[in-house]
Amino acid sequence: MPSPITMAPWQTGGRMKVAICGAGIAGPTLAYWLQRTGHEPTLIEEAPRFRGGGYILDFWGIGYRVAELMGIEPQILEAGYHVRTVRAVDRDGRTRAALGTDAFRRSTQGKFISLPRGELAAAIYGAVEAGVETIFGDSIAAIRQDEQGVRIAFTHGSEREFDLLMGADGLHSNVRRLAFGPEENFSKHLGYKVAAFELEGYRPRNEREYVLFNTPGGQVGRFSLRGDRTLFLFVVRAGVPHREGPGDLAACKALLNRTFADTGWECSRILTAMQGVNDVYFDDVSQIRMGRWSNERVALIGDAAACVSLLAGEGAGLAMTEAYVLAGELKRANNDYREAFRNYEIRLRAFVEGKQRSAETFASFFAPKSQFGIWARNTAIQAMTIGAVADLLVGRSLRDDFDLPNYDMQ
Ligand SMILES: Cc1cc2nc3c(=O)[nH]c(=O)nc-3n(C[C@H](O)[C@H](O)[C@H](O)COP(=O)(O)OP(=O)(O)OC[C@H]3O[C@@H](n4cnc5c(N)ncnc54)[C@H](O)[C@@H]3O)c2cc1C
Repeated sequence: MPSPITMAPWQTGGRMKVAICGAGIAGPTLAYWLQRTGHEPTLIEEAPRFRGGGYILDFWGIGYRVAELMGIEPQILEAGYHVRTVRAVDRDGRTRAALGTDAFRRSTQGKFISLPRGELAAAIYGAVEAGVETIFGDSIAAIRQDEQGVRIAFTHGSEREFDLLMGADGLHSNVRRLAFGPEENFSKHLGYKVAAFELEGYRPRNEREYVLFNTPGGQVGRFSLRGDRTLFLFVVRAGVPHREGPGDLAACKALLNRTFADTGWECSRILTAMQGVNDVYFDDVSQIRMGRWSNERVALIGDAAACVSLLAGEGAGLAMTEAYVLAGELKRANNDYREAFRNYEIRLRAFVEGKQRSAETFASFFAPKSQFGIWARNTAIQAMTIGAVADLLVGRSLRDDFDLPNYDMQ
């Protein structure tokens, strides 16, 4: 039995040094709660500076509640958009179905907002920036853990010792690869690819309206942002994962050209404008399913642990919830990380897996295979304009069967 003098912080409930890889959504949220509970987090982010922008997220539910507890709701509301309508159009631009978003607001007591991923990440990071060390432009090349701690070798050559390492580095997590094995062991491809980019000065604009166009096997959504910018989000059926890396510009443009050329609506204008775009988000739509989320001193959160995919529409909120619960369980277990990691998983696993299952079921709603499928999807959207039906279906799909524990971390 070590004496209290030689005992490590994780044995005494003292201040722990925690490396968090990834300064996206989950990482800075975890840093915030760890700092509040007396620890010393260090964020490690491979991007050279904070990453802004990105696709639009819907944000509600328990993630929204975590944001309220962090005091960042005002920044989120300022950066966000209250979408009024989702409208599906045909190849001639005629409206085929339109759904007001009142039911979404009713089901969430008004706490439902859409905002760029980067703006949500910036609001979270703003809450920790001043007090948390962040290493930009670096990553982790190797880890070695033993009874005393976890030694991290950085890509740029230096080495440092921490008590714990948290992988918050997203769908293609490097920490997961180093501590658990290759991505293909845990990745479940859902049969789609997703692409997103922004254009400046695009016309027409439809303020606070999400306009959808479908061709068999592909969907494009257009949303007008402030600053005369327009966001385009594409979901395309694709049976096998792509061999090119995520973000491959040429592969992305080729796929979108193949899928949307000569399909009508505004597609040819969008595809022409796309030729001048250099910054796209392009990836497979996949989920991460793991048998366990921790391995000794290393734990995973957010997409790294259990990506639900964009089809769930709640990955960011879940990432924030996982960060909150993990920090809370460490506090409750008085830093006994083994017990905390076990309880973190016991609390969340069934709930998150339920979200993964419903996302999979919902997949065909995005990009129906045939014209008949598109018609059926539009009919379903139209049926939801009946108030009671909308309240029932929207209420069910937005419900979080999870009560956020109170860890007394304020
Ligand atoms: C098109 C699209 C639409 C979506 N829509 C919604 C929605 O409506 N609502 C919702 O809640 N969620 C949505 N999501 C999901 C949501 O974006 C994710 O679930 C969420 O961002 C996960 O947060 P994270 O912090 O785990 O990962 P990320 O946000 O991906 O952050 C990971 C961070 O780790 C960094 N990183 C990666 N690799 C390394 C490395 N090797 N070393 C160091 N740093 C590294 C990255 O640069 C990044 O900063 C959507 C996703 C997509 C793709």
